[in-house]
Amino acid sequence: MSRIAYVNGRYVRHRDAAVHVEDRGYQFADGIYEVCEVRGGRLVDERRHFERLVRSSRELRMRLPMSRAALGVVLRETARRNRVREGIVYLQVTRGVAPRDHAFPAPGVAPSIVVTARSLDLAAREGAAEEGIAVITVPENRWPRVDIKSVGLLPNVLAKQAAREAGAKEAWFVDPAGYVTEGSSTNAWIVTRDGKIVTRPADQGILRGITRGVLMDVVAAQHLTLEERAFTVEEAYAAREAFVTSASQIVMPVVSINGRPVGNGAPGLTAVALRQDFHKYAESA
Ligand code: PLP
Repeated sequence: MSRIAYVNGRYVRHRDAAVHVEDRGYQFADGIYEVCEVRGGRLVDERRHFERLVRSSRELRMRLPMSRAALGVVLRETARRNRVREGIVYLQVTRGVAPRDHAFPAPGVAPSIVVTARSLDLAAREGAAEEGIAVITVPENRWPRVDIKSVGLLPNVLAKQAAREAGAKEAWFVDPAGYVTEGSSTNAWIVTRDGKIVTRPADQGILRGITRGVLMDVVAAQHLTLEERAFTVEEAYAAREAFVTSASQIVMPVVSINGRPVGNGAPGLTAVALRQDFHKYAESA
């Protein structure tokens, strides 16, 4: 079966899918995106992802090319045409195609939109969660507006590559005061020795993860104590557990940080329990 992508109003073969060389996403990373989990053929937390897309577009004064309802149709149709039951849909909107000039193009220039879908191996994902992942830390070097889900991800790319070269799966950015901000493509969490769940507030310095928001409901439902505050790398070394969250990984236990085992070096019970319950609290449609 050949993969299909949605590009500016048309479903095309993935290998033929292309945007113009003067697309502002390509020239300036002048674009925004979302990644939504597909589970049992349904979109997970579509409403929240759309709301965050709207917020990103407002912050960048970028027009969205379609309504929530129309976009929902395209996301589902792209998943369907690619026979994705378990996986992700990826959506990107850019400020469109125009002669290269840093300032915004003329108001009439249409935004570009691309949607792709990809299956993920459920068993492999569960296997990874049973093993847990290693994390390294890197200095925070991103712009202050990481609350916008922009396609400008070069520091994240370099951080993820550093992790890979160190034999780890994720890199946590650490701000100049020694506090963890977030992962290169995930939010960061710890469980303290006395069982409190700690994650950084999303008012600045991190992306407000959709998975993060839903997980807070799971934390409350399990009668656990949440502390929304920044934590240091030292605190993470001493934590009972650590984990990361994202739409494609849900809750992924962290078993080592910079080569030091977290807790007993195995996935923590809290992380596993939160992961198990996640989809009871996520919206699915
Ligand atoms: N932080 C960053 C930098 C990310 O790129 C992502 C997801 O891609 C997240 C956090 C997690 O966000 P979500 O739970 O919405 O996938």
